[in-house]
Amino acid sequence: MANFFGFVFIFFAILLIRYFITAGFFFSYYLKTKNNKTEKKILSQRPLKKNQVRKEIYWSVISSGIFAFFGAITYWLWLNDFTAIYLDPAKFGYWYLPVSLIIILLLHETYYYWIHRAMHVPKIYKVVHKVHHDSLSSTPWTAFSFHPWESILEALILPILLLIIPLNVYVLLFYLLFMTFSSFVNHLDIEIYPEFFRKSSFGKLWIDATHHHYHHKEFNTNYGLFFTFWDKWMNTESRKMQN
Ligand SMILES: [Zn+2]
Ligand SMILES: [Zn+2]
Repeated sequence: MANFFGFVFIFFAILLIRYFITAGFFFSYYLKTKNNKTEKKILSQRPLKKNQVRKEIYWSVISSGIFAFFGAITYWLWLNDFTAIYLDPAKFGYWYLPVSLIIILLLHETYYYWIHRAMHVPKIYKVVHKVHHDSLSSTPWTAFSFHPWESILEALILPILLLIIPLNVYVLLFYLLFMTFSSFVNHLDIEIYPEFFRKSSFGKLWIDATHHHYHHKEFNTNYGLFFTFWDKWMNTESRKMQN
C-alpha cells in the first residue's frame, strides 16, 4: 500500500510538471500573440474573467492528483498482469501498432462525446461540468480545469480500455503525449493549424482550437474530443464550423 501511494505521488509530480511546463509554454505564446499586431488571431475577443487563471490552475492541480491516482491504479494493474499492455512491439505484428492506436482513439472519442453530452444535462452540468465552462474564453490553463467528478469520468476510460485492448507500451506513451498536446492546443484560443490542413477532408474531421472555442462560446455545440464525426452525425456541430 505504501508503494501504491508512492506511485501516486510520483505520477502527481510528473503530471504537475507536465501541466506547468506545457501550459506555461503555450500561455507565453498566447500572451505574445495577444500583445502584438496579430491580436486578431485570438479567437475569443473578450477579456478573461477576474482571477480566471488562478481558478483554472487550482482545479487543474486537483485534476492532476486524480489523474495520478488513476495512473497509479493502471500501473499497479500492469505490474500484476491484469492489463493488455505489452512490451514487445512485434508481438502482434507492426501493422497492429497504428491500428491499435486508431481503435483506442475512436473508442475514447465515442465515450467522451456521449459522456460530454450527458454532462450538459442541466442537473448534471451544475455539479460536474460547470467548473470547466466557467472559462468562457479558454486559455492553456483551462486544459485540466475540471471539477473532480469530471476528472474521474475522464480518467476512468483509459484504464478500462487497457484491460481489454492490447496496446504496446510505446503506443500508450505516444497516446498520452498526444492527449496532452491536444488538450492544450484546443484550449489555446489561437488557431495553430495551417488553413490548407483545416480545409482538407481530413482537417475537417480534426478538432482544433476554433472548434473547441465554439464549444466554450455556444455551450451546446461541438462536444467532440479529437474528431468532429460524432458532432456531424448527431447534428451538434456549430454552424460557424459548417461554412
Ligand atoms: Zn462542455
Ligand atoms: Zn474545454
